[in-house]
Amino acid sequence: MMAAKAWLSGTTGRRADRTFRVRLLVQGVFALICLLMGIQFARWVTAAGAGVLPLPKRPAGVEAFLPISGLMGLLDWAYQGSLNVIHPAATVLVLLAIAVALLLRKSFCSWICPVGFVSETLARIGRRIFGRNFRPWRWLDIPLRSLKYIILGFFGLSIIAMSRHALTEFLTSPYNRVADVKMGLFFADMGTTGAVVIGSLAVGSVLIHGFWCRYMCPYGALLGLVSWASPTRIRRNAETCVSCGLCDKACMARIPVSSRPSIMSVECTGCLGCVAVCPIEGALQVHVGRRPVSPVAYAAAVAGLFLAGYVGARVSGTWQTGISDAEYVQRIQEIRSSKYGHAGR
Ligand code: SF4
Ligand code: SF4
Repeated sequence: MMAAKAWLSGTTGRRADRTFRVRLLVQGVFALICLLMGIQFARWVTAAGAGVLPLPKRPAGVEAFLPISGLMGLLDWAYQGSLNVIHPAATVLVLLAIAVALLLRKSFCSWICPVGFVSETLARIGRRIFGRNFRPWRWLDIPLRSLKYIILGFFGLSIIAMSRHALTEFLTSPYNRVADVKMGLFFADMGTTGAVVIGSLAVGSVLIHGFWCRYMCPYGALLGLVSWASPTRIRRNAETCVSCGLCDKACMARIPVSSRPSIMSVECTGCLGCVAVCPIEGALQVHVGRRPVSPVAYAAAVAGLFLAGYVGARVSGTWQTGISDAEYVQRIQEIRSSKYGHAGR
């Protein structure tokens, strides 16, 4: 306990160190949960492939990696009045991320998302190698940033254009029933094209901080748009601010914090990096409504809201899939057949 407290205080004991370490801890815990889920999921797929019944427990949280199915499930829920039983956790998790964004900005990206954690780790490696991360020119940065909205628009409009019947047909299709397994197999048996794409994204993330998140993640784009309505803001007190510019340098989203009274940007991830480095007490704070909150309280709210939603889904029976073990065994054993090609094809 003492060692954990000492680590959280950081090497210098400065507020910046503490805030950074609290966020690293929260991110690390969520990333570890994802890793353990991945291991359990691999065990479950292997057992299903071998037809060994009863199967070990399937971690429904892997559906976090099916955001499109989750979004479709959300619209289907609105149409049907009941949540689909194929991948309910995918929809619950999309809903939770949206709820967190609505209340506490895009903090899902900087506190919970394991992809964000990996992306930041790669950027840190880049800083170790090159002494810094690179920044594309502004004329290139702006169109690149719009890419994620174009991808979101493509998926969003495609989903909205689907009829009620087509949505339900997709959600109950053989493809969607095993979409989680197919995603796992994509990583386990990665082909050359997949490896080149993932490798390029990794290299891009080493060179440019937040390469995937800033330019291509449609999920982050959606949460950013939702966060615009959030009552949570970073606010700067112009009377006490000494214009040192430290907050600008610390901002992972490259927002010119020192020249704005409050941050409305859809790119703000609520990482609190700017608040942490500000040398003037109270010059820069995160506010929920009119109330300033401490970084620790903010961290607790982000993680607590997410975990409360998860517990609520488990208790209300809207977490586990309705697909039986016997059905999974049969489908996983024939998963390489054309029957499991994409439902849109
Ligand atoms: S404005 Fe502050 S909280 Fe928002 S992304 Fe930049 S550093 Fe993080
Ligand atoms: S770090 Fe604080 S004092 Fe410095 S420019 Fe930003 S808000 Fe002002």
